Amino acid sequence: MPLYLASGNAHKLQELQDSLGVPLLSQKELAPLPEWIEDGDSFEANALIKARGLRDFSGHWALADDSGLEVDALDGAPGIHSARFAGEHGNDAANNELLLKKLQNQPNRSARFVCVLALCGPGGQELVLRGTCEGEITQTPSGEHGFGYDPLFQPHGYANSFAELGADIKARISHRAQALRLLKEHENFLKFSQLFR
Ligand code: IMP
Repeated sequence: MPLYLASGNAHKLQELQDSLGVPLLSQKELAPLPEWIEDGDSFEANALIKARGLRDFSGHWALADDSGLEVDALDGAPGIHSARFAGEHGNDAANNELLLKKLQNQPNRSARFVCVLALCGPGGQELVLRGTCEGEITQTPSGEHGFGYDPLFQPHGYANSFAELGADIKARISHRAQALRLLKEHENFLKFSQLFR
């Protein structure tokens, strides 16, 4: 049975496939697709909108993820709006600049990255798991690796930002790594995953 990823991002597909150890197909293969409006009020709700949408449209198993950054001093913002915090979708430089501005003179810099994975099956099966990575927002950006808020996020236990630490460490300790670990170890995933091989 095929398992489709509710994303057209080839890099994400490869990363999830390698980690989960099951074949994953891109939603691009089902195009043209309807557009799902991600108007949920949580990472869980938005991951489910994508996974349920693709499952209902295709009749196949579907996996989706939703992620972002929660900053405690900003009551959890940017949260589900992480990609478009400064207005324009995916403008990392503007998002980082706005985050630093909002945290000016703010002593509480605790934050976490969150990743939610939702897996939906054609028989109504649903599995939703949340991975987190706790850390602090630094005073200035540093590092060249990664994307998004990586230059401003220093995970607990490390003296460098995600953008300085690089892909190998991130692959071990990130919110995405943690969500994937929880999914892989979940008894229902172990059962379902037999279907995808
Ligand atoms: P998406 O759900 O993977 O599209 O991520 C939404 C947004 O959250 C991204 O555009 C980034 O701004 C932020 N984000 C999610 N994961 C990361 C990460 O690992 N590093 C830096 N930023 C991230």
